[in-house]
Amino acid sequence: MSSQESLSHYRVLARKYRPNFFKEVVGQYPFVEMIQNALSQPKIPGGILLTGTRGIGKTTLARLIAKTLTCHKLDNQRSISPLEPCGLCASCQSCSLDTHLDIQEIDAASHTGVDDIRGLLESCHYRSLSGASYRVYIIDEVHMLSKSAFNALLKTLEEPPLHVSFIFATTEAHKIPKTIISRCQQFYLRRLEDQELKSYLKTICLKENISCQDAVYDLLVQHAEGSIRDAFSLLERAILLAGKELKESVIRKMLGLPQYAQVHETLRLLGKQDISALLVHVQQLYYEGVDPRRLLEQIAQGLYRIVLEQFSARNRSQEDWASLTSYFGISDITALWQCIVQGFEELEKSMFPFISLEMLLIRMAHMKSLPNLEHILDVWSGHALSQAQISDSNVQSDSSDKKSDRKKRWPVKKIFVTFFIF
Ligand SMILES: [Zn+2]
Repeated sequence: MSSQESLSHYRVLARKYRPNFFKEVVGQYPFVEMIQNALSQPKIPGGILLTGTRGIGKTTLARLIAKTLTCHKLDNQRSISPLEPCGLCASCQSCSLDTHLDIQEIDAASHTGVDDIRGLLESCHYRSLSGASYRVYIIDEVHMLSKSAFNALLKTLEEPPLHVSFIFATTEAHKIPKTIISRCQQFYLRRLEDQELKSYLKTICLKENISCQDAVYDLLVQHAEGSIRDAFSLLERAILLAGKELKESVIRKMLGLPQYAQVHETLRLLGKQDISALLVHVQQLYYEGVDPRRLLEQIAQGLYRIVLEQFSARNRSQEDWASLTSYFGISDITALWQCIVQGFEELEKSMFPFISLEMLLIRMAHMKSLPNLEHILDVWSGHALSQAQISDSNVQSDSSDKKSDRKKRWPVKKIFVTFFIF
């Protein structure tokens, strides 16, 4: 296989692994089962609404529903359980090729007007062209339709022809008129869990004979944020870049992330408050292509790892974060975390993200040199105690009273410290 063929081979991975059956849909149990049950009923819902965040498989499920409704083998036996399209009949095959005459798919984001919907609704009244039992209309991003388009749609949804089914997909169900929603059977799809995405990517890599470090799966899953489409897209980019061997160092570069050692060094210099060396170091990272926002994310994650080293026996990283625990106490990390949260907002709004990052790091290093509240209270407590001792010696009170005074002050300090930290 030439390199060009190899590239095109991997570009179609998403299509290659697109589910052909309900049982192949990843991470949407029990919603898939509910959809199968709804389709098994003698009366099919005139409108099906699939809602959920981006990239979790709404359009894929809509196509599977359309495939099931038009499958010739299921014409008179949709009550079988679990319901699946046969995948072999002429109808199923044209579904797989996206050439089915009775399945019409429109993107409401680019067809928002009433004329677009009217044209579609007029064809509802004709019998199917392929001999399938149903004509299916998939309207993606349906919330983008205009008010008049929704009104036109509503009339048909109130009394849909028996051989017609509408499938709507949207990320923003709250923008759809209630009159439309009430005439649909609604299914809420969910964001995939990290572990589900990770095992899915592992399965794909195994099938494609791709060697992938475990840390790479974690990075891809972390950046996909529960979206199977994004996870797939990232995996394809990684394969195009690195071939059949996916190493963490290469994928970090692809994602604009600094390497672990670079994040470690950033935190070490921050912990030492060596601002000059810190600025030289982050400038070097910037020239190497590290995105300022990504670096800040990694600094936040590094601080989180340092906390885990100090307080949790679970989820400890194999990387060496323990060596940084001497630089950062819990009150340091808490204060720096607040600073980072504000820093993300500043970087988002900034015209000069790198300069904003530099200013933020200077602020963080400076903040670390400030005495924390616990220290201030220690000083204050010692000062107050010495004042009390002078006063006590004047009245010649006994030593047991001094001890009880001191004991009374400590809880106040602890309450202040606890309040400040949490
Ligand atoms: Zn079929």
